Amino acid sequence: MSQRSLGRTVHPHAHHLPLHELLLLLESDRTHGLREEAARARLAQLGPNELPRVRRHGPLVRFLLQFHHPLIYVLLAAGLITLLLGELPDSSVIFGVVLVNAVVGFVQEWRAERALEALQRYTRTETTVVRDGKRRRIPSSQVVPGDLVLLEPGDKVPADARVVWSRELQVDESLLTGESVPVAKQATELPPETDVPDRVNMVFSGTLVSAGHASCIVVATGAATELGRIHQLMGEAVSLQTPLMRKIARFSKQLTAVILGLAALTFALGLWRQQPAVEVFLAAVALAVGAIPEGLPAAVTVTLAIGVARIARRNAIIRKLPAVETLGSTTVICSDKTGTLTENKMTVQAVVAGGKPFAVTGSGYEPRGEILDEESGCPVSRAGSALTECLLAGTLCNEASLIREGGWQVIGDPTEGALLVCAMKAGIEAGAVRGQYPRLEVLPFDSSRQYMATLHRTPSGELVLYVKGAAEALAPRCTAALDENGAEQRIEPTEILQAAETLAAKGLRVLAFARRKLRAQPAILSHDQVSDLVFLGLQGMLDPPREEAIASVRACRQAGILVKMVTGDHAATARGIAYKLGLMSAADSESAVLTGRELARIDDARLPQVVEQTHVFARVLPEQKLRLVRAFQERGHVVAMTGDGVNDAPALRQADIGVAMGSGTEVAKEAAAMVLTDDNFRSIVAAVEEGRAVFDNLTKFIVWTLPTNMGEGLILLAAIALGTALPVLPVQILWINMTTAICLGLMLAFEPKEPDIMQRPPRDPAQPILTRELLLRIVLVAALMLAGGFSVFLWELSSGAPQAEARTAAANVIVMVELFYLFNCRRLRGSVWSVGLFSNPWANSGVVAIVLLQLLFAHWPPVNALFHTAPLSVAAWLRTVVIGLGAALVVALEKKWRQRRATLRPERRLAPVSSL
Ligand code: ADP
Ligand code: MG
Repeated sequence: MSQRSLGRTVHPHAHHLPLHELLLLLESDRTHGLREEAARARLAQLGPNELPRVRRHGPLVRFLLQFHHPLIYVLLAAGLITLLLGELPDSSVIFGVVLVNAVVGFVQEWRAERALEALQRYTRTETTVVRDGKRRRIPSSQVVPGDLVLLEPGDKVPADARVVWSRELQVDESLLTGESVPVAKQATELPPETDVPDRVNMVFSGTLVSAGHASCIVVATGAATELGRIHQLMGEAVSLQTPLMRKIARFSKQLTAVILGLAALTFALGLWRQQPAVEVFLAAVALAVGAIPEGLPAAVTVTLAIGVARIARRNAIIRKLPAVETLGSTTVICSDKTGTLTENKMTVQAVVAGGKPFAVTGSGYEPRGEILDEESGCPVSRAGSALTECLLAGTLCNEASLIREGGWQVIGDPTEGALLVCAMKAGIEAGAVRGQYPRLEVLPFDSSRQYMATLHRTPSGELVLYVKGAAEALAPRCTAALDENGAEQRIEPTEILQAAETLAAKGLRVLAFARRKLRAQPAILSHDQVSDLVFLGLQGMLDPPREEAIASVRACRQAGILVKMVTGDHAATARGIAYKLGLMSAADSESAVLTGRELARIDDARLPQVVEQTHVFARVLPEQKLRLVRAFQERGHVVAMTGDGVNDAPALRQADIGVAMGSGTEVAKEAAAMVLTDDNFRSIVAAVEEGRAVFDNLTKFIVWTLPTNMGEGLILLAAIALGTALPVLPVQILWINMTTAICLGLMLAFEPKEPDIMQRPPRDPAQPILTRELLLRIVLVAALMLAGGFSVFLWELSSGAPQAEARTAAANVIVMVELFYLFNCRRLRGSVWSVGLFSNPWANSGVVAIVLLQLLFAHWPPVNALFHTAPLSVAAWLRTVVIGLGAALVVALEKKWRQRRATLRPERRLAPVSSL
């Protein structure tokens, strides 16, 4: 059979063929999987396991779409009419500008899309496969038909596959079926006519494992999968829209409509007054071109895309674009403890076994150190004692391994790695004992049950179940304890809890160990068998807080953001770390720490109030996180919540910013708005900071750009109303808008963050971008532009200058006002002096560029001819510069006055006045 058609040929039969036939067809093996060479050859032939990109539009259509805009229609009509009127230079300028505009729009859109596409590359997933009989993690894109894939809770199914073996496998197929109730899957044979939704022996690409385990044999990858089929039908329906983008688009559409109406009115008015039709038409066009803020929607998209890229550089990947907007408004961050606030580098420092405390020396994962009797200080380890059994349990009931590559490293969960290291200090070596005590069964760890159990056959042929987990989870299941000499004694659960509390109070993460001897191997190991246990001991490990987390917590406090620790760990352990992080101080009362159990007793009505005052939520079950998020939201908070497991998904979805760990499950990542590549708390805070900066820059651009449109519109309206000649011509307005948008406006996107960006309270999401304050500033600048531009025009005319020269001067005034006003806009509140005139080199180069362009505009004959301009005298130049500078000074004074007033009456909150 041709390899190329492997997927398409096998897939329709994959559910009804006997398994051995299917394996034969795919030349694979149910335990050893594919051979590595075979897999590589298939990958080369079939291509990567990826969905082909379905582009709705090719580059040409996308370029043409740039012309699909009411303003462009107006311009094209204007160009055509001027052409018919025989004004070749004018019409070529108009067409030229339309073209440049389309190219700029196309490039910006393309860049924004590239930045967002790059993110999808970050979020690629990995899969566990068996090849040559060995488990391996590979990128999901390298999975080929015939691969033996291992699935566990939280995984994303990488391809369509037939189930070979499973235990309680549940898959969420809502992606394909829209049905969110998980479907049970198992290894059976089905009749050929079974419909796809009923193929319970198959798992499908893109669906999520919500529970259970399985091994499956891949039958189709990439486009040949069910997902690929649907994908092709739907096309790429990923929307890159955010609420803000929609708002801005709506705003500029409304504005466009209003201005077009105004322009039409102007035209009618002129005709009615029996002014020459051409002139009236040009005036109307000039009004439309000047007053419509055509660059606004694109600027918003680009600013958001730049924000996404900046956030990515600080180790946070945005999965849902609206998050960029919400981030800056975050008021509370609920963070995991282990690995996020702490280093997740565990060292066992204390063991309690047989009722005796032991100290463990050494640090890190290097297995060098000793286990000392705390009373005598003597090294200890005696076969059969509670201590050795406790260490043995830690080694056997364990999925991690230690390797020596340069230094010592843990493969797997650091908590488990620390147990291996500790046991090695007493001479118990994982490789050796795992061989002597073969593992028969496992109940994997999950955060809800908080324990894990494994069944082993001892060298003497006995069956022993080893259990490890939270003391609270194990204590109620223990009926006896092993003493120093290995004899079983009765024990009360409270004794275990007390011992754990003592260790946890030292800030150590505590695990309890227990065992149970079974007479016969159960058909299926279930949680019922984790009872009647013999307690073996406790191990306490140190997990130091991250240095940088301490600084980040402080930064949050200054930024008015609450930080709450939400952990599955013991209350005392969590409290210890919270102190070290500065999350709570000695002054905080006992009630600043709540456990999951206490949380469950608080009713929904009272909870919102309680959560605000609590700093640490300990022993929280993943299911409870959802309640926490809701409680905070009830109080009007914008909540960022972290998570990594399957059960965290609902809370991540509910949160305003769901934050998944890069090391977490695919299910969590899928639900999250943001993924941390380094699992580090600092990256959340960095993302919030960048989110605030995005909003700042957006606001700055809008506040800078709108007065130009308004000013130009007002100048033209005034001229039309007064019946004077136009102070600026349509082509001149096109020139001004194009050059200033590129040389000045664009540079605001490179504005460095304001120094106090993390010293002010979070932005109220209900507050519009244009506050009354900013709206008034826009009107002020537009008025200054109107006054300056118009009076210079009239002044030049009255002093005998020809119209072309007067217009050049008026155009120069508009540009100069924008140029100097750019520096007002570089800071929203304080003055630009506080950040330095040269702190944004882009802005300064833009200023140089625009001055050179204006010199060309006024003094280069070919440009003069095209734009109907004329050279200006030095005095005229100076006059325009002085007006620009004067306008900026007025704005600076206005800012200062406002700041003064704000400090005098700080509590006054301005009501929203605009829809933006
Ligand atoms: P966190 O990561 O916030 O500490 P987890 O849900 O991972 O929360 O862990 C909760 C508790 O479960 C831990 O405090 C510990 O007692 C126990 N635990 C953690 N990891 C394991 C594991 N691999 N095996 C058994 N028990 C564990
Ligand atoms: Mg954990």
